[in-house]
Amino acid sequence: MKRYDGIVIGGGLVGSAIAYGLACEGLRVALVDEGDVAYRASPGNFGLVWVQSKGAGAPHYQRWAPRSGDQWPALAAELLGRPRISVGHERPGGVHLCLGEAELEERQARMERMRIQSGNYRFDYRMLDYRELPEMLPGLGPSVIGASWTPYDGHANPRNLLHALHKAYVEKRRTYIPNTTVGDAKAAPGDFRIAGGEGEIGAPKVVLAAGLGNVGLTPLFGLSAPVRPQRGQIIVTERARHVLPMPTTTIRQTVEGGIMLGDSREDVGFDTSQKPAVMQMIARRAVLSFPWLRELQIVRAWPALRVMPPARRLADL
Ligand SMILES: Cc1cc2nc3c(=O)[nH]c(=O)nc-3n(C[C@H](O)[C@H](O)[C@H](O)COP(=O)(O)OP(=O)(O)OC[C@H]3O[C@@H](n4cnc5c(N)ncnc54)[C@H](O)[C@@H]3O)c2cc1C
Repeated sequence: MKRYDGIVIGGGLVGSAIAYGLACEGLRVALVDEGDVAYRASPGNFGLVWVQSKGAGAPHYQRWAPRSGDQWPALAAELLGRPRISVGHERPGGVHLCLGEAELEERQARMERMRIQSGNYRFDYRMLDYRELPEMLPGLGPSVIGASWTPYDGHANPRNLLHALHKAYVEKRRTYIPNTTVGDAKAAPGDFRIAGGEGEIGAPKVVLAAGLGNVGLTPLFGLSAPVRPQRGQIIVTERARHVLPMPTTTIRQTVEGGIMLGDSREDVGFDTSQKPAVMQMIARRAVLSFPWLRELQIVRAWPALRVMPPARRLADL
């Protein structure tokens, strides 16, 4: 049996980042991944490196988000150096557009709550009105009556990131075991054994980063992670000249020029079908925000499942 310092199960963005980080620390790691047959959130990602609305009601999370944003430029530079893949990261700040008074009031209240909850850690935001916004975002439609803005937000190319993390990990000459579903394991203190691939492997530590697969995986280790799927659908347009200087929560222009529109939040279990009604809703809202989008051709669209925490019931509170 081959033994490692650690085994990471799941090669999406989370598992690949952890495995690469452990390899950088000099540890002998094995990364085991089921591959494309599994539900995978990472390739379906919209690409925001978002801070402004993360962690409402969870101050520890609210502190993580900007710290993570701060570390992004160094990671992007590192991956550009080796394995020479640009992850297209930019951090120009970001806005959340509000269509109508009700949305604006709700947003203002949320941002203020977050500022108060941030305490000494600070959370700088501004509410922008329709007079200031057109200077920041050209071509806005009259339906946009305001927005929240923070300097912390950014975006990146998630597919390039996934590819770069995998490649960087493999270049560290660490073990990558693809197309392998971990379905059995033995867990004793300091001695985990995983069945899969070319036989059993063992390590004193194991990381469960299997996304939605963690529901079935965690009981093998005496744990429970009842994460649930939430479908999101994304539309990408043809390339356009660069007009959007910063991302919004649901519209962003990629480095290559395509405009990404998203995202929906649908509680439909493991249904990964595309729904025209939802795509129409995404497109309609985008055109209300920037009427010039109406002229662009759609070149791609896809659904994917997010990995969400369990829904909380009143009885659980
Ligand atoms: C439509 C959409 C838009 C999103 N937009 C954003 C965004 O703008 N910004 C942002 O930060 N996040 C966004 N997310 C969320 C983000 O993509 C996910 O949080 C992230 O990709 C989760 O990564 P993961 O590695 O935990 O899971 P996954 O990417 O699902 O990876 C899990 C991996 O585990 C493997 N696996 C599963 N079971 C097993 C098993 N038993 N044995 C071995 N391997 C197994 C699978 O093959 C898979 O590769 C979005 C998600 C969706 C769906």
